[in-house]
Amino acid sequence: MSESQNIKSVLTEDRVFPQSAAFVSQARLDADRLAALHAAAARDHVGFWGDLAKKELGWQTPFTRVLDDSQAPNYRWFTDGKLNASANCLDRHLGARGDKLAIRFEGEKGDTRNYTYRQLHAEVCRVANALKALGIGKGDRVVIYMPMVPEAVMAMQACARIGAIHSIVFGGFSSTALKDRIEDAGARLLITADGGHRGGQIVELKRAADDALAQGCKTLDKVLVLKRTGHDVAFDARRDVWWHEIVPKQSERCDPQWVESEHPLFLLYTSGSTGKPKGIQHSTGGYLLGAMTTCQWVFDLRDDDVFWCTADVGWITGHSYVCYGPLACGATILMYEGAPTVPDAGRFWKIAQDHGVTIFYTAPTAIRALMRLGDDWPKRYDLSKLRLLGSVGEPINPEAWMWYHKVIGKEQLPIVDTWWQTETGSIMISPIPGAVPTKPGSCTKPLPGIAVEVVDEAGDVLTGKDAGGYLVITKPWPSMLRTIWNDNERYLKTYWGQFSNRYYVAGDSTHRDEDGYYWIMGRIDDVLNVSGHRLGTMEIESALVSHPAVAEAAVVGRPHEIKGESVFAFVICRGERPRGAEAEQLAKTLRDHVGREIGALAKPDEIRFADNLPKTRSGKIMRRLLRSIAKGEEITQDVSTLENPAIVKQLAGQD
Ligand code: ATP
Ligand code: MG
Repeated sequence: MSESQNIKSVLTEDRVFPQSAAFVSQARLDADRLAALHAAAARDHVGFWGDLAKKELGWQTPFTRVLDDSQAPNYRWFTDGKLNASANCLDRHLGARGDKLAIRFEGEKGDTRNYTYRQLHAEVCRVANALKALGIGKGDRVVIYMPMVPEAVMAMQACARIGAIHSIVFGGFSSTALKDRIEDAGARLLITADGGHRGGQIVELKRAADDALAQGCKTLDKVLVLKRTGHDVAFDARRDVWWHEIVPKQSERCDPQWVESEHPLFLLYTSGSTGKPKGIQHSTGGYLLGAMTTCQWVFDLRDDDVFWCTADVGWITGHSYVCYGPLACGATILMYEGAPTVPDAGRFWKIAQDHGVTIFYTAPTAIRALMRLGDDWPKRYDLSKLRLLGSVGEPINPEAWMWYHKVIGKEQLPIVDTWWQTETGSIMISPIPGAVPTKPGSCTKPLPGIAVEVVDEAGDVLTGKDAGGYLVITKPWPSMLRTIWNDNERYLKTYWGQFSNRYYVAGDSTHRDEDGYYWIMGRIDDVLNVSGHRLGTMEIESALVSHPAVAEAAVVGRPHEIKGESVFAFVICRGERPRGAEAEQLAKTLRDHVGREIGALAKPDEIRFADNLPKTRSGKIMRRLLRSIAKGEEITQDVSTLENPAIVKQLAGQD
């Protein structure tokens, strides 16, 4: 990659926020302890992880071999050890933490339920016994299609308990998406609910499940149905089983099924922002170790924390930081079923106040949406218990970071901007809150035992102090995906093929600055090439969002005869969508603003204002679709998995 093609960070962000002294004084990891971990990992990468696995996990049969790389890049960890994930999350807390709350739950309508570790353990055992009664055993796949209620976590834990492999399909997905995933996984059982509550409406889960089953799903024998909403749903007595009829009568004892460390704990299909979803397969031992250690390092998780990760269990974030990591650490998790703005825009902050939330972990899309609703809402609530804030899912624009820092964090709380993927299983790059100063928009530095590098197009590692290129991981790590379900060829090609199996290629482009801090610039496909200069879409978006009139922006490239590509920006304003002369005026102002922030090169050739952006159900901007719109192509892509398919017309300038 020549110098001019090197992906440069063109947006200057000089603000640095030191760790707060109050936080450092009680942190699990301060700078010295973090340095010791890094040093240990650098000395002996495999030994480092082996020691942690012995210390943190409860093994029924201890492992003797840490890493088996004989079939690399299909790596295997702790292979001859045996354990059970549910025993690690529940049974081992029964002594000291039996009466401590494991789950605090609040529904959209305000209904609440709490479970202590002892109660959760008993419930999980009952569900596990019910699964056995339905003929499910070790290695069988179980698809879970449920609302964000405690029973979703119980279902996951129950599968883990008997060695069944769960695959969660997000409750917002359509019947077709559900059918595709059931068939790809070859699932024998579906666990669903009559419906869920969201935005004052009922999410028709059972109806969608019935549709999916009518379209195929031949491997499926039974459907276990939780009564959540109580509204009328079709019920096929030969196939469907009510949760309340089978679960309560089961014994609250169920011995865990000990499984090999490599036994698949779950499959999870990626969100599909970049194409056909992949069934990512995770292991038991390695995955759980990653989820646990990152809870301790990144979230500084301790016994008295109330940890609220707002992600749905349908996403990897909900697996690692709702269900597995925090419970394995013995913390209290908060689960909320509904929308953030019901009955009003203060709901999230009211929940945080009422439940004494100490750690709050959400996505940039939510932060930008909450920011757009104004500062008055969070100010009405007592958020004094909060001690740590987190972000995941997309690059967080410095502007949104500053809002989070000022308005929610009162300029006191550390923010952890965590970079990772469904495939990585757990957080890879993130500040350690008691040890690493933060910079708005940067996920800072890799965690101990995570070997990240930047490489150029030839696959050569860039060692400079100012490097831009592909983000790769050069050594295996325990929570890495093991394969793509039913498609190891695709696993090899997608993640390892590009540089002849030398590195795991994340698919993101990044820039590393002179302090060794990483700035994620977006997907490799999203990088623009304007007159020979490579620009990350993220930076132009952040420049736009730094203007007070702008709430959100998405930038894509459009082929241009002279420049190669030109910049096309979709902009959402904080107030009403401007039209006519007002829109023209604002577009000019924003072009000049980007020119000042980054340079003339990055000025959008076209700016289109809209009420919203096309988002995947996990809240990510669907740039693939915007690229087609910018090119003026007819939209042939499937928009049914969008959260707001109606917006496509407006974005295409037809409204
Ligand atoms: P698919 O792989 O099917 O396209 P997806 O990549 O959107 O779906 P996820 O695994 O949920 O599915 O998302 C991981 C991606 O999210 C990362 O590759 C990165 O692009 C982005 N991402 C996650 N966290 C951050 C972060 N803190 N900063 C920047 N980008 C992030
Ligand atoms: Mg991805």
